[in-house]
Amino acid sequence: MPTHSKRITGITPSGKDGWEVHFAAMRKKLAGEPILMLSVGDHDFDTPEGTVEACVGAVRGGYHHYIQLPGLPRLREGLARLSTECTGVDTTPDEIIVTQGGQGALFAVCQGVLDPGDHAIMISPYYATYPGTVRAAGASFTEVDAQAENGFEPDIAAIEAAVRPNSRLLMINSPNNPTGAVYSRRTLEGIADICRRHDLWLLSDEVYWTIRADAEHVSPRALAGMKERTLVVNSLSKSHGMTGWRVGWLTGPAETVRYLTSLNLVSSYGLADFVSRAAIEAVEHGHGVREIAERYGRRRTAFLESITDLHGVKIRGSEGGMYVMLDISAIDPDCEAFAWRLLEDEQVAVMPGTSFGPSAAGHIRVSMCQTEETLREAAQRLRRFVARATGARSTAVA
Ligand code: PMP
Repeated sequence: MPTHSKRITGITPSGKDGWEVHFAAMRKKLAGEPILMLSVGDHDFDTPEGTVEACVGAVRGGYHHYIQLPGLPRLREGLARLSTECTGVDTTPDEIIVTQGGQGALFAVCQGVLDPGDHAIMISPYYATYPGTVRAAGASFTEVDAQAENGFEPDIAAIEAAVRPNSRLLMINSPNNPTGAVYSRRTLEGIADICRRHDLWLLSDEVYWTIRADAEHVSPRALAGMKERTLVVNSLSKSHGMTGWRVGWLTGPAETVRYLTSLNLVSSYGLADFVSRAAIEAVEHGHGVREIAERYGRRRTAFLESITDLHGVKIRGSEGGMYVMLDISAIDPDCEAFAWRLLEDEQVAVMPGTSFGPSAAGHIRVSMCQTEETLREAAQRLRRFVARATGARSTAVA
């Protein structure tokens, strides 16, 4: 057999991918065990009715054909309005390109601004696909650790220290997956300053911008001198309850959008016609947006309230997005071992922090993609587990 390109074999270097606990939990659940799945990052509810009906109508109505490569004009108009709201900067349709989910936008950014041999900087913990997406462009990267003690907001001096002569791109994500951190205006000002001084592109992943409780969402695109160098990744997956529909978009300079239209030409050839019609309906009516944001807000509050007095467990970040990060290092510094034991002893599946980079070691990520009742039940099981673990330890010490 001939060999494959280094480009694709290098995307996920072999070995562990961090999903071992999750897949073991899935197997147990399928075998009938009463596992509480707090490891998944997908909604536990379906797409809002209005969006679904629009899609059915579009399929029946003959919307079966190729569409414009950067997206249907009416969808780009709607997304431009959403980007104006999300970023606080007046946005026109020619500054929008529709992509296959937020991941398609991440891929487009990396292909669009990184050449082989270039260097990117990402903040760790990061969303799991970031390293592979940079590698797929033939670039290298440095991870800058965001410290748990700072609520997982990155340190500006540490980012500055990671800049190299061949650095082209800085990647940030707020509200953050996995930490739930919502970056402050001050942090974003510092990040913008680095990008301007070192002439870097800024990838700002804002896919969770609607799910943030009371925290202010600041887009770095709105900061001085940043509109021309900020590429905002967005998606209907989380905000509009449409993970499986694969509709995302990128907001950036019109020139970047023109180049990336050629990327759509040779990769996706644009989105599905009927899916795009449903996306127009979702965007123009905001189907699900408020309800979904409120639902996650209630869930986060319910879960955090159930564990506030949990001895030895600290809540870090966890202001927005769909996850809560718990520092369990006082109970077990090995978060993978903790997650495996929690699964075995209490049938609760969570992600070990190390799945998202070394700076999340000593933590577990708990997904809020379950009902409040399930989250309260999970909190009780966690409480029992922690009580046993700390009781066992003090007995051992005594
Ligand atoms: N960025 C972040 C931070 C995410 O969590 C996700 C999805 N979980 C994406 C991008 C990709 O979004 P999509 O599902 O729309 O491809």
